[in-house]
Amino acid sequence: MSSSSSHTEGLVQTVGILTIKLIKGTKLKNADLIGQSDPQVIFTNGRQVAKSKVIDDTCNPDFKGENLSLCIESKSIPIKMHVVDIDTFSEDVLGDAELSISGLKSGADLDVRDIPLNTEGSITIALSYTSLVEEKVDEELDKLRSGQVCVDCGNKKIEWASVSLGAWLCIACSGVHRSLGTDISKVRSVDLDVWGDEQKKGMLASNDFNSVFEGGIPSSVQKITPSSSRDEREKYIKQKYVELAFADKNLKATKLEELVNNARG
Ligand SMILES: [Zn+2]
Repeated sequence: MSSSSSHTEGLVQTVGILTIKLIKGTKLKNADLIGQSDPQVIFTNGRQVAKSKVIDDTCNPDFKGENLSLCIESKSIPIKMHVVDIDTFSEDVLGDAELSISGLKSGADLDVRDIPLNTEGSITIALSYTSLVEEKVDEELDKLRSGQVCVDCGNKKIEWASVSLGAWLCIACSGVHRSLGTDISKVRSVDLDVWGDEQKKGMLASNDFNSVFEGGIPSSVQKITPSSSRDEREKYIKQKYVELAFADKNLKATKLEELVNNARG
């Protein structure tokens, strides 16, 4: 690990506990030739896994309110739900889905949801969330964000940031950054994640950032805007951060890291 990136890598921290009360499955896929499916629901959050009991021989399982829980590191990352048919000799997939937990409030009433699977049928669950950190607007971070724009498309609505680059991002551009992998850009939510002091210190004014990363943009290249398509964004953002095609040539920097160091001064 280089010294420049270690500044911005906070320790992984559990910010809350998600409790999933499993209610029922409805019209799940029948994967068995004799009888019906034997469904089990598996929730994963990064490396954490929570599995329900297996309910035998039914496509409409009653989970009888079984409670499962997961530690949450970031409410901005959806939970994956995987439903399988457990047989003696095999495990067939009955379907998958994702649960967004970003809107859950600590200590609120159960959030009952009927989650459709990507195959057929649905799983009914009730979610509750207990925060282990004080959930309030980080005023320091909010102040840093004020007046900045998305460094890629110029959108004034900033909900995300790349903490490895020190760059403010809109939701659409943050999705492209995430797809590039954490070697290129580490994305965090401004409102939902807990930030370390070093991460806050590493953030740059969007103009300063772009004077380095777009300082040498060819006149033939058109900058993306908040209404650009996903394809246009992907192309532009890859050129900007993977190929470093728009960087200020006077800096003679050839690596992403060198440009970040330049921008941070
Ligand atoms: Zn943007």
